[in-house]
Amino acid sequence: MKYNRILLKLSGEALAGNSGFGVDGEVINKVADEISELYSLGVEIAIVVGGGNIHRGLSGVTTGMDRSTSDYMGMMATVINALALQDCLERKEVQTRVLSAIEIKEVAENYIRRRAMRHLEKKRVVIFAAGTGSPYFTTDTTAALRANEVGADVIMKATKVDGIYDKDPMKFNDAVKFDQLSYIDVLNKGIKVMDSTAISLCMDNDMEIVVFDLFETGNIKKVVSGEKIGTRVTKS
Ligand code: UDP
Repeated sequence: MKYNRILLKLSGEALAGNSGFGVDGEVINKVADEISELYSLGVEIAIVVGGGNIHRGLSGVTTGMDRSTSDYMGMMATVINALALQDCLERKEVQTRVLSAIEIKEVAENYIRRRAMRHLEKKRVVIFAAGTGSPYFTTDTTAALRANEVGADVIMKATKVDGIYDKDPMKFNDAVKFDQLSYIDVLNKGIKVMDSTAISLCMDNDMEIVVFDLFETGNIKKVVSGEKIGTRVTKS
């Protein structure tokens, strides 16, 4: 395996499948199968889940909602996804712990970095819920933050497409895929793969990002074993 400790970023949208809302049982089951395979190989797995399939802070703002309140709703949405993923993984006998950045002690442990490290050392899958715990951030930034905090080797950003393109491949037939990009290229070209706070945090701390297609069976393992799929974002 190329990486021993990974941070997998799963967006809420990915978990919704084609319906676009809520958690699709088939999709989450498939993702859990792939995580379970890595788990059995002894890879240390941390996961940041998004919440966009239930609520996004900015969409609340468009209806007049207070930004912070709407963002807290988004963070609560990530907790729902985290519990769904934990349930699915545990049915596959994968030991998991949900660590929440907002205290909800009846359903999840509080996020304490040292505790997260201990779980990872014990090979438990750690699911980070409630984002950073602060409004005005995203779960991509959470992924960048937690990956650095726990010393992950890479951020694996799972998406619906097989990498980063110069324009939207769903809309343009002539879109060209990049195999590799630098952080600064992503920022300068305004590529919307992760928000600029997340990219900057990775750039400042030299945290590698691999963007890949979640829906192609076997891809998670391929990335971890070092196969060149998707797009790598690195220093140069
Ligand atoms: N959010 C937040 N602070 C954080 C992480 C998330 O306020 O540290 C809120 C924000 O409103 C965001 C929502 O939670 O829109 C859901 O997260 P995100 O949009 O990143 O989910 P994804 O796009 O990955 O499904």
